[in-house]
Amino acid sequence: MKKGELLYEGKAKKMYATDDPDFLIQEFKDDATAFNGKKKGTIKNKGIVNNKISAFIFEFLESYHIPTHFEKMLSDREMLVKKLNIIPVEVVMRNIATGSLVKRYGLEEGKELEYPVLEFYLKNDALDDPMINEHHAVAFGLATPGEMETISRYGTKINAILKSFFIRRKVRLVDFKLEFGRFKDRIVLGDEISPDTCRFWDLDTGEKLDKDRFRQDLGEIEKAYQEILGRVLHTGE
Ligand code: ADP
Ligand code: UDP
Repeated sequence: MKKGELLYEGKAKKMYATDDPDFLIQEFKDDATAFNGKKKGTIKNKGIVNNKISAFIFEFLESYHIPTHFEKMLSDREMLVKKLNIIPVEVVMRNIATGSLVKRYGLEEGKELEYPVLEFYLKNDALDDPMINEHHAVAFGLATPGEMETISRYGTKINAILKSFFIRRKVRLVDFKLEFGRFKDRIVLGDEISPDTCRFWDLDTGEKLDKDRFRQDLGEIEKAYQEILGRVLHTGE
């Protein structure tokens, strides 16, 4: 597959055309941003680690019949993906109270929720990704009711699959973000699943092993990303 023109450069990835209009090359960068781009930096080898983690997780989800955009790994930083018509809604799944859940609803930090929470945010940097619900998404013409139902079903299923995947690796999956799109009228999981888009806490020590180390200046960021890659690839059992 030939790498064509750069179609889009985002905060963490570059998307390139290929000689097949149905496929893109997704290239992972080392650039890191937080607080909607207000904080900027780089995390050495993050692109390589996130590419490998995402590839492994996408293949794992495919084995549970979740359709993903992942086709194959092309290099350390590049994967071939299906070209999706991205639905501009970020889907956040939460298992443990932290961040805005604590601030907004006064929950106890670190408390396991009785049931996973599914939230939607409008993907719009200029508006700071405001929270929406499925009615907003339909009313704004972003997705049909059937598509929102499929997205919710996949989000819930992905959470159940990944929660136990990470528990076997002694990691608590606190919360994470998903993006979906359309490929030939089917809903398909896109983007990435990595320490950039998930909160991971070590099961025994509670140590943060994700982008919160960058957001909160906790240090040893590279080491945390490598640790997650190691655990994703080997259960240790
Ligand atoms: P951002 O746009 O938030 O800065 P990234 O740097 O991660 O984020 O850029 C990747 C962009 O590509 C995102 O806008 C994402 O929605 C989009 N994207 C992810 N997967 C696909 C895909 N398979 N097809 C088309 N676009 C995709
Ligand atoms: N998230 C993400 N990209 C975003 C927004 C959120 O990857 O643009 C992920 C984030 O890493 C975390 C979860 O989604 O795992 C919840 O993030 P949010 O910013 O909503 O956190 P909170 O408001 O709880 O601090």
